[in-house]
Amino acid sequence: MTEDKKVRVRFAPSPTGGLHLGGVRTALFNYLYAKKYGGDFLLRIEDTDQTRYVLGAEEYITDCLKWCGISPDESPEKPGAYGPYRQSERKAIYRQYAEQLVAAGYAYYAFDTPEELESQRSTSPNFKYNHENRDKLNNSLRLGAAETQALVGSGIPHVIRIKVPSDETVNLQDEIRGNVSFETSLVDDKVLLKADGMPTYHLAVVVDDYLMKITHVFRGEEWLPSAPVHVLLWEYLGWSDQMPKWVHLPLILKPDGHGKLSKRDGARLGFPVYAMNWTDPKTGELTEGFRELGYLPEAFINMLALLGWNDGTEQELFTLKELISKFDLDRVSKAGAKFDIEKARWFNHEWLKQKADMDLLPELKAILATNGHLAKDDAYLLKVFGLLKDRIVILSEFWQQASYFFSPPVQYDLAAVKPKWSLEKTAFYTELAERLSSFDPWHAGEIEHFFKLSAESTGLKPGELMLPLRIMLVGGKFGPHVFDIAELLGREETVRRIHQLLEQLQ
Ligand code: GLU
Repeated sequence: MTEDKKVRVRFAPSPTGGLHLGGVRTALFNYLYAKKYGGDFLLRIEDTDQTRYVLGAEEYITDCLKWCGISPDESPEKPGAYGPYRQSERKAIYRQYAEQLVAAGYAYYAFDTPEELESQRSTSPNFKYNHENRDKLNNSLRLGAAETQALVGSGIPHVIRIKVPSDETVNLQDEIRGNVSFETSLVDDKVLLKADGMPTYHLAVVVDDYLMKITHVFRGEEWLPSAPVHVLLWEYLGWSDQMPKWVHLPLILKPDGHGKLSKRDGARLGFPVYAMNWTDPKTGELTEGFRELGYLPEAFINMLALLGWNDGTEQELFTLKELISKFDLDRVSKAGAKFDIEKARWFNHEWLKQKADMDLLPELKAILATNGHLAKDDAYLLKVFGLLKDRIVILSEFWQQASYFFSPPVQYDLAAVKPKWSLEKTAFYTELAERLSSFDPWHAGEIEHFFKLSAESTGLKPGELMLPLRIMLVGGKFGPHVFDIAELLGREETVRRIHQLLEQLQ
């Protein structure tokens, strides 16, 4: 590959369900690299395994990338010059390459039925179709040209397998891992073309990376064991000089560092693993995603970028633009990156603080609507948010913190006030409500001043009187400064809530 070739990278997910955060990180690293070097970022849908195809998964992937702000330059939705971008629509392309490999002696037809292979596996559980046994199995290497032709001619189902050499070393130069070598004796003869004429992943990925002029293959480390097959295919197809650079990204690990983070870990430990909500179309099961839980895309991406990469300084907050300029392969680590939900929350909190409240209005209104409230006026909603912002880490916590600004408390923490309640307090609040109903100007500072003066004149401690006021307005022992709450609720509502709790305390 010449160094001045235009960078072209691809994110190549299989549409089999929701997108795990590891998948989004792969997409992100592809995107960052492409944008840094003025290249193209492609989305290719790898849907050749029809048995694993899940309806809605492709749309979900596209929406995820949009939400993250890393939309591809070429994709099924936005075809460029190298389409189609769905492998199922490229079916007709692959056979010729498989046949080319057979003709050159690098691949062969195999007629073994699924039942025959199953019986092999049941007799030897470690069965692998490879150099050790291929000449005893039902394939063109054993049957010879004439019989093979007759079988193929008669339309008998067959697959095409790669003929992996028995004793070679495949050396792969990985941009992150350096040289990785594989003994071909341990690699099995993977199917390249299936009986239904569809390519397998191995053939399709190499053919498409070649035809789409991909310069760098960024993918998760879990694909490394497949890489020797791909390197051999690049060589056997005569394309070695065009082979992309390999970039196998470190795994994202469970919080305890033991093994790859899975969807089940999220459910078990109570945090999201998918980018957005995903509903399994078969079971109807909903898996919650970062987006719906109130994470900002800026925070999500920032958090993902640091799972396996850093810029070599202490800096942790990066905009997408900064990531593009700072990202490079030399600072991507080999070691797996532990996922830490607290860190994800921290990123979100930081981004929430940086964001203009106004920009969050649509999300805030949506939260209100989900809880059965129409935002009566945007200015009020923004003031409420402004008051609570510091206490909210992820947006979904907004309602829990803010509900009393939109409807009176349904439950009161009576235990916090009842034991110390007295007739004097009833008298104080009755009088206070009376005086507040015509109090002007209705500003937190003035109300507080007035409250304190009134408290002093009773001889009761202001501190002791403050808590009941909070319970009256909020329902519990939480929330921001109580007089700020009163100011926002307004005169009438404040007075009404004082009366409401007084009634319960009689
Ligand atoms: N289709 C593979 C996946 O689902 C892509 C692996 C690759 O990028 O080569 O992740």
